[in-house]
Amino acid sequence: MNSKTVKLTQMMQIANHGHILYIYDAIDSYIENAVSYIMTGIEHGHHLLIIENKERYEQIYLKLQEALSHDQLDYIHYIDNYEFYRLYGDCHCESIVNHFTQIIKPFLSQQISFRTWAHVEWKEQDHITSKLEHFENIADQSVSSSGLVSICAYDGNKISALLQNTMLKSHEYLMTDNELVKSNLYQKRTVVFPSLSVQSDHKKVEKQLKAIKHQLESFIMQNSDPILILDKDDKLITINRAFERTFGWSADEVVGLNATDLPIIPDDKRFEVNRNRSFAILGENIEGCESVRKTRDGTILNMMLSCFPLRDEEDKVSGRAVIIRDISERKKAQELLIRTEKLSVAGELAAGIAHEIRNPITAIKGFLQLLQSGSIEKKAYYGIIAAEIDRIEQILSELLMLAKPQAINVESKNILSLIKDVVTLLDAQANMNNVQIIIKFDHSETCVRCEENQIKQVCINFIKNAMEAMPKGGKLVIQIKNVNEEKLLIRFIDQGCGIPKHLLSKLGQPFYTTKKKGTGLGFMVSKQIIENHNGTVVISSKENKGTTIEVSLPL
Ligand code: ADP
Ligand code: MG
Repeated sequence: MNSKTVKLTQMMQIANHGHILYIYDAIDSYIENAVSYIMTGIEHGHHLLIIENKERYEQIYLKLQEALSHDQLDYIHYIDNYEFYRLYGDCHCESIVNHFTQIIKPFLSQQISFRTWAHVEWKEQDHITSKLEHFENIADQSVSSSGLVSICAYDGNKISALLQNTMLKSHEYLMTDNELVKSNLYQKRTVVFPSLSVQSDHKKVEKQLKAIKHQLESFIMQNSDPILILDKDDKLITINRAFERTFGWSADEVVGLNATDLPIIPDDKRFEVNRNRSFAILGENIEGCESVRKTRDGTILNMMLSCFPLRDEEDKVSGRAVIIRDISERKKAQELLIRTEKLSVAGELAAGIAHEIRNPITAIKGFLQLLQSGSIEKKAYYGIIAAEIDRIEQILSELLMLAKPQAINVESKNILSLIKDVVTLLDAQANMNNVQIIIKFDHSETCVRCEENQIKQVCINFIKNAMEAMPKGGKLVIQIKNVNEEKLLIRFIDQGCGIPKHLLSKLGQPFYTTKKKGTGLGFMVSKQIIENHNGTVVISSKENKGTTIEVSLPL
């Protein structure tokens, strides 16, 4: 045997299987190697499937006939490679694989060992590299799963370097006319290093990523709102300077703490932390949730919190970011507005009330004169005078209540008596305007947790608006409805001028008024108060028919 040929017996050291890429150059060596391969196989009791062109096979077979007996020659099975690879015109991977599967079926079913020699040839066609790559990948899988030894021979003068390298990934061994080596590229795809051009691309991307990271870091650090970054276990990993400034704790003191243990969270708000975390885990954002947080010196600040999940490169939630905005100043301004508006309502009411009070005072004065003159029976009139004085007292105390700044005091209040108190104040104006106020209710005992004065302020605003919408008089129905155990509705239903559809959205904007002496603040402030009570305000209106303002409050 030619010394240049590969000692193919070596191949038997190839574990149990071997997918070998043979890039041949000289035909002589090719034939020598094929013969050696076949003979070694037969020595090991293997059958041989030779996928080869006719001419080359004849050359090989001639040599084999010299060396092998008839019985041994029966181990060789010839398959025309022209038919095999060009069976359906273009190289069609699935067809080839199916064909091959059919061929080897009888061997596998009878548990006959075999090895293959395939001379891969193809006619010029598009995408041949990727077609062959696909085919050889499948072939490699079947070779390694069936423990087959298989040679795929490619003409080194025809195969492109690109195709050769591609093939080296699906073949465990590379053979040339006189060498056999392990393929460095085989199945090492995961640790294959990118080529130089890709590496420089990587560097570019790396630089870009660094720049973005830098931008994000400074965006977080320089942000004027406190920002916290928490990992997937809800441990604090980053805070920014605004956090330190606002709350007074430094990064050293808080980084590493669990979110629920952060000193900025008042005890009664710890449940919020777990709730926000659950939202983040589900991939949900929380936007603009109002709450309070504590500074190092114990000051409670009104805060608006936004919280959103952070994701890793596999799009899994890997933590969350929390942005906190100090809205204490805004809250103060809102409270101031509510107070100012209240005072202006009180001022307006005072004019009407002066009127209301003058009537009983005139009556009392008259009775006093009559009593002084002794012209009437005293006893009968004392009762009337006392009742008139009571009424004056009641009205004045309501007015004072409204005008006086009060500490915010949330208590459970009977809603029916609250509304009756308000109506007392407004009766005078209602009478003057010919408006009849009718109160309807489901239960007289329903109580609502609220800031009494603020809810009164809301009712006054809505009743006043209703009366002002009915300058010629009409009915105002105040309906108190228990929707269920959790919700109460208060409807103010008037028969006034109504609000044109296109102006409905303006209601609630500050200073929007259609009245000469209006402030355009009543509706907005009332809506704010109700929302602060976790309720809602809904308007429905028909021009020239009337308006219904529906306030819902949690019970
Ligand atoms: P103001 O009463 O000082 O005008 P509001 O904020 O209370 O301010 O109301 C704003 C505007 O909304 C009113 O000027 C009026 O045009 C309209 N409006 C509010 N309530 C009613 C109502 N019940 N019927 C008709 N228009 C209303
Ligand atoms: Mg008003």
